Amino acid sequence: MTKWFEEALHPGITQRLSMDKILYQKSTGLQDLVIFENSVFGRVLALDGVVQTTEGDEHIYHEMLSHVPILAHGAARRVLIIGGGDGGMAREVMRHQSVTDVTMVEIDRTVIDLCRTHIPSLSRGAFDDPRLDLVIADGAVFIEQTDARWDVIIIDSTDPLGPGEVLFGEPFYRGCKRCLTPGGVLVTQNGVPYVQGKEVTNSHRRLVPHFRDVWFYVAPVPTYQGGHMAFGWATDDASLRTISSDVIARRFETLSFTTSYYTPEVHVAAFALPAYVTALLA
Ligand code: SAM
Repeated sequence: MTKWFEEALHPGITQRLSMDKILYQKSTGLQDLVIFENSVFGRVLALDGVVQTTEGDEHIYHEMLSHVPILAHGAARRVLIIGGGDGGMAREVMRHQSVTDVTMVEIDRTVIDLCRTHIPSLSRGAFDDPRLDLVIADGAVFIEQTDARWDVIIIDSTDPLGPGEVLFGEPFYRGCKRCLTPGGVLVTQNGVPYVQGKEVTNSHRRLVPHFRDVWFYVAPVPTYQGGHMAFGWATDDASLRTISSDVIARRFETLSFTTSYYTPEVHVAAFALPAYVTALLA
């Protein structure tokens, strides 16, 4: 008898994934966590009943939320990741040899430990990289208290539910702005606009007072149900969003790795928003 994981994140629709093998299922004390195997997407991590990442499509999300800001910035040395407990974002960021320091602030140590054990393909050794400074804390509290500065800040959080909610608030965005170096870029996991449109509207309204250029870019992540996934983009250097694909390609060619989704052309095209998404901008 097949067991099914049912994600009921959006009223009126659910997403079901067969749980062909349950590798771990328990509350971490902060979040309900399950890791299971699915015949299509491989190993799946879900928190509080919401798919976080899967072996099958994680590369789309992690490549787009890391290489777009880093290659647009052009000289990022210090990167801050808020969330990212599965390790995929840290892995992708540290593929850039030019990045010298990565700080990762994750609220739930158990997510890290279980993903290292049960889905090691996500972090692929990232947690052992000497460039990584791992902090177990609430990202909102960390941002409030730190005096450090970063060139790129990546919010790789859960949805604005439970512990993730504070990471979508204006005080947090204001703190992120304070912690960016001049010309730095903030990017965020910003939901699936077709079914979570108010997340784009809210983030836009809360970011605009603090950044000269606020926009979004999109990519399709199959297990984030409902179409395009939106990534928030905020910086005071508006030119970073309109860099040509030739310049991005020249930067991309200097890298010592290949990608499975990201290309310089996809980078540029991702900022061309569908009309229903631009209509959501406050
Ligand atoms: N790719 C996923 C997505 O798009 O929803 C996110 C994956 S990652 C597993 C999300 C991480 O954010 C989790 O490990 C969770 O523990 C962490 N998190 C949630 N709220 C947080 C907070 N306030 N501070 C730091 N980390 C937080």
